[in-house]
Amino acid sequence: MISRRKLLKRLSTLPLLGGVFGSSLLIPNMASAAAAPAKRNLIQELGLRTFINAAGNYTSMTASLMPDEVMETINESAKHYVMLDDVQDAVGKKIAALCHAEGAMVTAGCWSALVLGTAGVLTGKDTKKVAMLPFLEGSGMKSEIILQKTHANGYHHALTNTGAKLVLIETRAELEAAISEKTAMMWFLNREEPLGKIKHAEWLEVAKKHNIPTMNDIAADVPPVENLWKYNDMGYDLVAISGGKALCGPQSAGILMGKKELIEAARLSAPPRGGNIGRGNKVNKEEILGMYVALETFINRDHDKIWKSWEKQVSHIASAIEDIPGIQTETVIPEIANENPTLKVTWDKNKINLTGKLLGEKMRNGTPSIETISWESDDYIRVAVFMLQKGQDKIVAKKLREALLESIA
Ligand SMILES: *Cc1c(COP(=O)(O)O)cnc(C)c1O
Repeated sequence: MISRRKLLKRLSTLPLLGGVFGSSLLIPNMASAAAAPAKRNLIQELGLRTFINAAGNYTSMTASLMPDEVMETINESAKHYVMLDDVQDAVGKKIAALCHAEGAMVTAGCWSALVLGTAGVLTGKDTKKVAMLPFLEGSGMKSEIILQKTHANGYHHALTNTGAKLVLIETRAELEAAISEKTAMMWFLNREEPLGKIKHAEWLEVAKKHNIPTMNDIAADVPPVENLWKYNDMGYDLVAISGGKALCGPQSAGILMGKKELIEAARLSAPPRGGNIGRGNKVNKEEILGMYVALETFINRDHDKIWKSWEKQVSHIASAIEDIPGIQTETVIPEIANENPTLKVTWDKNKINLTGKLLGEKMRNGTPSIETISWESDDYIRVAVFMLQKGQDKIVAKKLREALLESIA
């Protein structure tokens, strides 16, 4: 491939070029084209640290990289005006069909899907009620959302953005007792299913018996790809997912999908409409379209092949360090969220003078910088491969080996 600089050099030696580009009268905007500076690189210009992501879809690490299909969609659509509602209508239909839902919308992340979905449940399609949120008292709207205590781990705060009150329960008896004419919704945090006493089937059974809408937060729960439709099929009225985690869509996008009536109601609290609590949950057309293409691209991947390549990368990294005295390696697959093979590296502290945090710092401060999961324990780190770019497993293996060897006691 010819580098840009070489190309410019070659072009500038062509006699004709001065004739074409030399006259600013002919093509005013092209006047400086021949002497165009090298493409701006903001990462360099601002001195930002980039790194190999051997950790995963962490919001603080900007989560995931968008594939070319998504970036092409974003760049192309940025050149055209369309009506924001028209984009949501069209994309919503496509996403709904892909995920076995009646309706769908692109939201400003999974958090925004939780807020807007809850707003839709509370207000229905009554625009007067939409304008009243978050003040539920005396509004005639239902005001309570029931969830299990073990599911209240931070993200449930999104529900309170609507003004709704949370009712935390543990057992089925407590659930039945908590249900009243005030109950607006029953909320489930998918990744905490193993911790709660009430599982999906029972949660839905009770909700249906009392005719209460349900929502499931599956933010980080693909792969497996089937999860994109599993909970719609199961009977949840609304399902919320992050767009910028493993789906590799825009980081600030997400999807709310489910019953058509509820999606239509949720959109009443969303831009372009104002005068409501959702006005800040704006998603631009580029991201709405990018989200759709990211979802489609993700679904169409060869998931088995990709899983095998992850396993291969994990075993490559393991085999690069296994001979170091005191090292133990193990493949760990998280049960629900971020379900993908990771390499857990444990060491004998008498032989290797490191804590998890220190090894994480060593990897971060190396060249190239590498982020690992180094905060879970003093005794180990985990290395995730599912966000690695091609060939980076080799670099991670080499740098990890170096870091461990340097720390032999
Ligand atoms: C990441 C996450 C969210 C928030 O998602 P965003 O797309 O960052 O808004 C909500 N719930 C859970 C369980 C998450 O992991």
